[in-house]
Amino acid sequence: MMTNLQLRRVASIALSIALAACASTGTRNTTSNTTSTVSTTIEPAQALQELKAGNARYVAGNVRMHDWRHERTVKTGSDGQTPSIGVLTCADSRTPPEMIFDQGIGSLFVVRIAGNFQNDVGVGTFEYGVAALGVHTIVVMGHTKCGAVGATVAGKELPGKMGAFVAAIKPALADAPKGADGKTSTADAEIANVRWQAGQLLKNSEILSKAKADGKLAVLCAIYDVETGAVRFLD
Ligand SMILES: [Zn+2]
Repeated sequence: MMTNLQLRRVASIALSIALAACASTGTRNTTSNTTSTVSTTIEPAQALQELKAGNARYVAGNVRMHDWRHERTVKTGSDGQTPSIGVLTCADSRTPPEMIFDQGIGSLFVVRIAGNFQNDVGVGTFEYGVAALGVHTIVVMGHTKCGAVGATVAGKELPGKMGAFVAAIKPALADAPKGADGKTSTADAEIANVRWQAGQLLKNSEILSKAKADGKLAVLCAIYDVETGAVRFLD
């Protein structure tokens, strides 16, 4: 069994080789410009607090516009990215994580897909984030009024490839609470889906589960309210 450091080196080497031809893809540069005041790094102990504070700024309409300065784009473009927080969320146009958490360029490492479910591509993406970029916190964030979850609850037959997200979400609802009518509400299903997908994310990845076991990765669950803009972190 490889240590976390070994896994990280293997991932870094593999990615460096694979991405060598892409000049615009940054790699972590420890000799970056230390005179700049721009930082995209969030310490692990501050992650939840920073996410909550950022969302509070967003809800209050008091966002830090300076985080979107061109200076930050220039620095991350030249020095490479060092995002601290991964986010798995829905493709829904109302759930942009950078805006919801009031974070700028270079802070969040994001996977978005209808119904915010994990799959091999998403797992691999977060493995890269954790092993090669320094991501220490992953938020699995569902949202209210999610069409993908709603369609799964309704048991609708969907045309084309849309059945893929229903199939990916359906197992998450097996143990979800059911009402007197024997049905799960969409709201309960959204919560159940987030929790189940977070568990599967770890179950399907040796790199992520080991990082969590070693205390180097936290996985948080949250629901975003599309009507208020507020994020509720789940226990
Ligand atoms: Zn959705």
